[in-house]
Parts: sequence; C-alpha cells; structure tokens
Amino acid sequence: MVVVITGDDAGNTPRKVLRVLESGNRILVEGVNRAYKHVKKGHPSSPQGGRISRELPISSSNALIYCGKCSKGVRIGTRVTASSRERYCKVCKDSLGRVGREKADA
Ligand SMILES: [Zn+2]
Repeated sequence: MVVVITGDDAGNTPRKVLRVLESGNRILVEGVNRAYKHVKKGHPSSPQGGRISRELPISSSNALIYCGKCSKGVRIGTRVTASSRERYCKVCKDSLGRVGREKADA
C-alpha cells in the first residue's frame, strides 16, 4: 500500500499499487490520476461508446510506502536480516516485508 503525496489525489489514504512500470520509476495506483477517454461505439471495453476511465501512471517519487503501525506514509530503509533483506519503516522501525529472494543457506 502507498500514500500519494502530490496532486489532486494526495491525502493520507492507503492505496493499492496496481502495477510497477519502468523498473520502479513509475507506478499505477488504484483510483489515482484517473483520466477519461472518449470512445466510439464498438470499443471492446465499452460497446455502447462513451467515456471510459482508467488510471495513468504516476512517478513513484510522488508516493510513500504506507506503514500500518504509524497509519501514514513513511520513508523506508532496508536492512539485512538473518535470512534476507527487508524494508522497514524509518519512524517506528517495524518491518514492512522482505525484499528480494530468500537466502537458500540461511
Ligand atoms: Zn511505522
């Protein structure tokens, strides 16, 4: 979950990341940066025509990882644990999940 910090959709609401593009530089966030596209009759996703709305990607620098314990967007760090690397909240130091593969020999 992320919190968007700039633009019309900014706010302290945790949102779902739908896709990560360009190796992490841009992300597609549910309900953020929606745009309407006007389509003619016969379009596969709107057979009657009209407007279809979809999210456009935003820069990942405009979003923060959401920390459930702090209930807000926080800056994160990474640290090495016994078995892997993990992300953690810089505010409360709580783990925010593993990064990368788990070490086989740990
Ligand atoms: Zn936290």
